[in-house]
Amino acid sequence: MKANVLKVRELCKSFGPTKVLNGVSFRMTEGEVISLVGSSGSGKSTALRCVNFLETPTSGEIEVMGDAVSAAVNHHGKTEIHSAHHIRNFRRRIGMVFQNFNLWPHQTALGNVTLALLHVLGKNKRDAKEIALSALAKVGMADFRDRYPHQLSGGQQQRVAIARVLAMSPKIMLFDEPTSALDPELVGEVLRVIRGLADEGATILLVTHEMRFARDVSNRMIFLHKGEIEQDGTPEELLRNPASDAVARFLSSVM
Ligand code: ADP
Ligand code: MG
Repeated sequence: MKANVLKVRELCKSFGPTKVLNGVSFRMTEGEVISLVGSSGSGKSTALRCVNFLETPTSGEIEVMGDAVSAAVNHHGKTEIHSAHHIRNFRRRIGMVFQNFNLWPHQTALGNVTLALLHVLGKNKRDAKEIALSALAKVGMADFRDRYPHQLSGGQQQRVAIARVLAMSPKIMLFDEPTSALDPELVGEVLRVIRGLADEGATILLVTHEMRFARDVSNRMIFLHKGEIEQDGTPEELLRNPASDAVARFLSSVM
């Protein structure tokens, strides 16, 4: 049996009075690829951001490689966080790729990939460069190492952003609509990189509207509706046997 990399238990997140996630629970084993799907506003990005601790959950528990962070609302109505480790120890195990690449504009491709290796992982310059070049090679961007983001296409920038995450050797990679800011002709090159990572055994939690890709690459699909998991199963299960009209409608509208 494969080890659990991520466990999410009863995750809730509210922004003021607005409940965005309402008791989301799932787990991921090593090498699993899960697509988180659902209509706009269903809470997909919020779920990823909570898993990466860019947002503090209102309540619930997130366990990464056996270490847990739990959040609970106290009797004053405030959220309290409990963890044996500092949050940054969790963040190091999780890499996130955003829709808009978020590269440093005044750093070259190589600079973008080495920065965190130097300043977060404390690698020396030579090791950082070696790791960064190998990550850039993996996404087919080694020849562009000296280019600045504005000298790269959107697809190339996103590949550098993926290399930047890869270089940190995360246990889980989160992708939040990694191709939705790209011109259609640039989507394929980024999806090919993600598929390559999946084929190599990376553990990936992916939010995408590329449903055909999601179906092909994912072991499981989790359908989120109004902050709750409506269905969690293999792509075939969701397609053949949708748990609700919402799932059926969503899948039929995009497949
Ligand atoms: P999705 O990624 O599925 O489109 P999101 O997680 O971005 O959904 O958003 C879910 C809901 O949470 C939306 O109604 C959105 O307006 C709300 N929301 C997200 N972030 C915030 C925030 N920082 N403050 C207030 N509301 C937010
Ligand atoms: Mg989103």
